[in-house]
Amino acid sequence: MASIDCVIIGAGWAGLSAAAVLKASGREVLVLDKARGPGGRSSTRRQGGFRLDHGAQYFTARSDAFIQQVQGWRDLGLVQVWDPAIEVFGDRPDHAGQPPAERLVGVPGMNAVLGYQAKSQHCRFGWRLENMRFDGQWQLLSSAGEQIQARHLLLTAPAPQALELLGRHHPLAERLAAVRMAPCWTLMLGFDRKLEQSPDAAFVNQGPISWLARNGTKPGRREESWVVQASGPWSCEHLEDSADDVADKLLAAFHALVPAARERRPSLKTAHRWRYAQAENPLDCQFFGHPEQNLAVAGDWCAGNRIEGAWTSGRAAAIWLSERSV
Ligand SMILES: Cc1cc2nc3c(=O)[nH]c(=O)nc-3n(C[C@H](O)[C@H](O)[C@H](O)COP(=O)(O)OP(=O)(O)OC[C@H]3O[C@@H](n4cnc5c(N)ncnc54)[C@H](O)[C@@H]3O)c2cc1C
Repeated sequence: MASIDCVIIGAGWAGLSAAAVLKASGREVLVLDKARGPGGRSSTRRQGGFRLDHGAQYFTARSDAFIQQVQGWRDLGLVQVWDPAIEVFGDRPDHAGQPPAERLVGVPGMNAVLGYQAKSQHCRFGWRLENMRFDGQWQLLSSAGEQIQARHLLLTAPAPQALELLGRHHPLAERLAAVRMAPCWTLMLGFDRKLEQSPDAAFVNQGPISWLARNGTKPGRREESWVVQASGPWSCEHLEDSADDVADKLLAAFHALVPAARERRPSLKTAHRWRYAQAENPLDCQFFGHPEQNLAVAGDWCAGNRIEGAWTSGRAAAIWLSERSV
């Protein structure tokens, strides 16, 4: 079996930013993801005639490197500013920082940049890494029983999933185990007609909901679709509830905040559970690696729990891997 130079597990921001760096440095790269397409936690779901950003809602760009990169995507029309009228329900928490200068979104969906990047990479979707072992190079086994050999490996799954793949006895296990990732139940709603007198988005500091957004107010979208995210504590408490039960409970909470929705039966109502949504205690390192095994692990949980952190982490890991021998 031929072995591949660099395999990246994950076609989210970390994996695809890493793939771009590795490819630019002349390395052979294969990106594998268990999902049906690129995006990871920045995915856009199409369902019932609606398109909804059900993971990341928007992003910010703070570092010079990311600002420069984002400008390139803006020039291509893949990213635009979203300037919603945001309401706040409940008290503003003491720890709330200044609002960002610009909220940026992918156009027409949050996965736009990743879809664009994936096109210039060798990617395989629906490929779930089930088992891995190092015997001088990486032997990767998929859930469908396919084996792939890799000389260098980058794992960008959320820390608990990366830990499960590497095993508790791996030298990197302790650092992975230190990362706590909070879940997030997300309700997606679609309506046939506009809900009048409703906010574009809201931070909610009371009850089960923490954020809601009228997806159709983002540039490039039109439909009356909403994304409603439950708070971390509520999501933990209801982690194993059925999606239907969660959808009903979150819809009732949504009605309390958006009265115009009470009169309208949604034509789409579905809940998605992000078991590992965002790190509660992101590590203060851009990535970490195991030089003897040509292995790096990266993701938002390394460099801040947001899109910019994921992008930064993937790039840093790729630069490190690209400097290792071919
Ligand atoms: C509900 C929610 C709201 C958010 N809101 C925001 C926001 O408003 N702004 C912001 O900046 N960030 C937000 N985030 C965080 C943001 O989505 C993440 O920081 C970012 O998408 C992480 O990218 P990543 O590449 O590190 O990981 P991921 O996007 O998780 O990518 C990892 C990839 O690995 C794949 N994978 C995992 N295990 C395997 C396996 N065994 N085999 C094959 N493939 C595998 C997954 O399918 C996935 O595609 C939010 C996240 C969630 C869940």
